[in-house]
Amino acid sequence: MVKLHNCEKCRFRAVAEKKPDSILAKLWRWHTGWCPGWKAYQKELRERGGRPG
Ligand code: SF4
Repeated sequence: MVKLHNCEKCRFRAVAEKKPDSILAKLWRWHTGWCPGWKAYQKELRERGGRPG
C-alpha cells in the first residue's frame, strides 16, 4: 500500500477545514499554492486515482 504524505493527518489542515473563515484557514489555503509538501500529496492522490484535496 502506498503511503500518503502527512497532509492527510495534518492538524493545520483539520483546523482550516473546521473553520474555513478563520485567518488560519486563509493561511492554509495560501500555502497550498506553493508548498512542495502539499503538491507532493496532490500528486500522490492523483496517482492513486483519488480526488484532489
Ligand atoms: S504540506 Fe501543508 S497540509 Fe501538508 S502536512 Fe504540511 S502543513 Fe499540512
